[in-house]
Amino acid sequence: MITKGARLLPSAPDGASWWLHRKLIGNGLELHYDTPIAGRERTSLVAADGTRIEADYVVQATGLQAHSLVHNCELATRAEDGLLVNSRLQSVADSRIFAGGDCAAMEDYALPKLGVFGVRQAAVIHANLLAMLQKCPLTEYKPQKNYLAILNLGDKTALATRGRFWWNGRFSMKLKDLYVSAAATAAGLKEWCALIIRISERLRFICRSVKKTL
Ligand SMILES: Cc1cc2nc3c(=O)[nH]c(=O)nc-3n(C[C@H](O)[C@H](O)[C@H](O)COP(=O)(O)OP(=O)(O)OC[C@H]3O[C@@H](n4cnc5c(N)ncnc54)[C@H](O)[C@@H]3O)c2cc1C
Repeated sequence: MITKGARLLPSAPDGASWWLHRKLIGNGLELHYDTPIAGRERTSLVAADGTRIEADYVVQATGLQAHSLVHNCELATRAEDGLLVNSRLQSVADSRIFAGGDCAAMEDYALPKLGVFGVRQAAVIHANLLAMLQKCPLTEYKPQKNYLAILNLGDKTALATRGRFWWNGRFSMKLKDLYVSAAATAAGLKEWCALIIRISERLRFICRSVKKTL
């Protein structure tokens, strides 16, 4: 396993990072830190310092990046991170443009590319678009300091981290499954509610039309 970083999970507590390192070594993995890969030659990966690392198969998992469209639209961006936005999630180059989630880079924060930030930013963007149309003051988005991250380790266990706390094992994996199924149930319920509202509106319309013709 090769990474250009000095450690695994840079935003996790030191203990969690060290525990994962030992677990991977225990599973027979060879870890290469501080090794940015510059290219590939036949069956080798070539590191920036010229070192060749033989590989039969390569799985590239180099992290999320904003779409190239973001960097080509001639607005201010942060390299590899996304469209540069202020605390109201407006482009610093053009206040009519809003961005959140993986394609955005907040000027005062370096947020990891995680769904939890995108989801909360979306609500602020929605409010700010309406506020802009109504010429009202815009809301600021302040990212939460701590968030729960649960990494599935593929052996029915997971590594959970929140702030400086971390724990691993089957319970963490159960928590992740629970969270995913709760989110799916909530999304399903939302769709059903929308359908029921649509049907009741149609019924109301039919009732009104029948009343008028009588
Ligand atoms: C393997 C993996 C696991 C992850 N696990 C977690 C996790 O456990 N917890 C967590 O919080 N986060 C997780 N994330 C991160 C999370 O998925 C992202 O942070 C989140 O989806 C970002 O939402 P977004 O709406 O900004 O972008 P996306 O969800 O990527 O949505 C972007 C949308 O833009 C569309 N699009 C792209 N280009 C164009 C174009 N030219 N024109 C029109 N549409 C376009 C795409 O089709 C897509 O629908 C994970 C990510 C990956 C890849």
